[in-house]
Amino acid sequence: MADVGSVVESGTESNKKKFSFLLAPEDAIGGDDPVVLKYTMKGFKQIWQTEIYRNYYYEGITIRPVVEHIHQGAKTYSIEFSTDKKRFIFVPCGKFYKGMIAGYKKNPDIMVFNTTFLRPNNNFFHLSAEDVEKIIRKVNPKKAVITHYSLQMLRENPTKVAKALSDRTGVEVIAAEDGLKVEF
Ligand SMILES: [Zn+2]
Repeated sequence: MADVGSVVESGTESNKKKFSFLLAPEDAIGGDDPVVLKYTMKGFKQIWQTEIYRNYYYEGITIRPVVEHIHQGAKTYSIEFSTDKKRFIFVPCGKFYKGMIAGYKKNPDIMVFNTTFLRPNNNFFHLSAEDVEKIIRKVNPKKAVITHYSLQMLRENPTKVAKALSDRTGVEVIAAEDGLKVEF
């Protein structure tokens, strides 16, 4: 979340051109000392607090938090973005639990997973490639992207990990890299 400060500072030219909205959990924007600085919040026309299952609307896109994650230190949610034609699901950091799978509507056009580790690691509140495989099998997206790698994952080579996931699930899985653009 500390990144939000620098992104907003450069993207809004020091708040001169405001972004449309920020959707963020209560612990990021509330209280006396929020993670997102009060100065940074001025760079948005609207601030929306994330609530599970609530729909937010922006220029024909419906934005909906669909799964609450288990993540130490900050509240995180899987977010679904949909239009009348396409459905995109972003799965940020969080520890895998079985119940999360049921929260995704099947067959989205694309899912992006913060896939930090190769194997489940109970000490960290992050998904592994094995967890991601379980989700892909059940939810069956048309395409998937893995990103947010640990050093361990970089050593294993994310492209190889993505290829193995593709081979095992039959779903096209792409390893994210800087500047990657994906059509879906
Ligand atoms: Zn993380």
